Amino acid sequence: MPGDEEQVVIKVRDGGPYKVTGPIRLTDADGVEIPLPDDGRAVVLCRCGRSRTTPFCDRSHVCRPGDTAVVHAGLPAPTQGAPFLPGPVFAAPFHFEGDAGEGEAPFYGRYANPTWAGWEAALGELEGGEAVAFASGMAAASAVLLELLGPGDVLVAPSDGYYTLRTLAERQLVPRGVEVRYVPTSAAAVLDALESATLVWLESPSNPLLDVLDIAAVAAEAHDAGALVAVDNTLATPLRQRPLELGADFAMASAAKQLTGHSDLVLGYVAAAEPFRAAALRTWRTTTGSIPGPFEVWLAHRSLATLGVRVERQERSAAAVAQLLAARADVPWSRWPGLGCVVSFDAGDADRARRFLHAAKLVAEATSFGGVHTSAERRARWGGDDVSPGVIRLSVGVEDRQDLLADIAQALDAAGS
Ligand code: PLP
Repeated sequence: MPGDEEQVVIKVRDGGPYKVTGPIRLTDADGVEIPLPDDGRAVVLCRCGRSRTTPFCDRSHVCRPGDTAVVHAGLPAPTQGAPFLPGPVFAAPFHFEGDAGEGEAPFYGRYANPTWAGWEAALGELEGGEAVAFASGMAAASAVLLELLGPGDVLVAPSDGYYTLRTLAERQLVPRGVEVRYVPTSAAAVLDALESATLVWLESPSNPLLDVLDIAAVAAEAHDAGALVAVDNTLATPLRQRPLELGADFAMASAAKQLTGHSDLVLGYVAAAEPFRAAALRTWRTTTGSIPGPFEVWLAHRSLATLGVRVERQERSAAAVAQLLAARADVPWSRWPGLGCVVSFDAGDADRARRFLHAAKLVAEATSFGGVHTSAERRARWGGDDVSPGVIRLSVGVEDRQDLLADIAQALDAAGS
């Protein structure tokens, strides 16, 4: 048997489609095959630690990926003369002889691409599930929502999360007969809305006001009520929060944010706890064509290696910025959830917020967040969020902390009152 710490038991939820078959192969230390039990359990090697031989982790043990995992996740085994991270593969058709279904080779770039495979292996390892990469975070969210929900289904979704999710729900779900219940990011509010829910969508911390809730508690109750649970993990990243480990069925994120951190690509992904759900999302991607470009995927995989150092630096600076803002009498309120690089605060009113953004020299006025460059925006400028006019969402980058603090302080001074 391999080391005990690499071996876990998949527990089957009652009636759940958790049965593990297919690509899992277990051998003992001598290479002798261990048959998979046929009693609703399966023993697998966990891919979150040293082994990369199995498709997912069962979430029943502690397997937190850290800074080492992000550096190595999804990379091929060392091969003489090969690069650490192979370059992007650009192809529409691939050479493919013979009949359909022969072998595992890719045959057309909408179905599969070797560059995706490494990136998805990395994401799966970090989230503790089976990952499917998409062209954007919204493509990933659309896949989950539109694949799962049909007439008569009920979606519970955040009233205070990323607003395009609500636009998607209004434009695509409601007309199809899906009932959508919007609730604030609070466990009590979500639990109140659970009756006959099909899917609960959580975003914690929420964007832009950074509310958090107890994902494990909500997921347990949602499952008892017969609902599936999806968590938008964009703000926390899998280094800080692992929704699947907390009981969610899906972890979804925009990879345009801190996960990749360089503001140079748009991508998204979904990691599913159960492989058959990942397979359904992959089929969705193939048929709708919401595929990621290989070059962006390669850039993302390259950038992932620095996630640990970026998160560490950005979080420490965000904590310092939050402290600075909390101490200012001219900032009515500020928020930082104790993780991540985003700090939200009220500059007082719209004009003062504009003056702050204009006066800050190290703070780029831009939407999005999570990048190495500090950026901020007056969130009410888009009209999609229920926030007061002076609210600024500030994303702390990797600049020198003292330079940043000095710049933010001078910009608040310059903005007057
Ligand atoms: N989820 C959150 C929390 C976001 O902030 C965003 C984008 O800002 C998205 C999802 C959508 O991601 P994308 O822009 O990659 O489509």
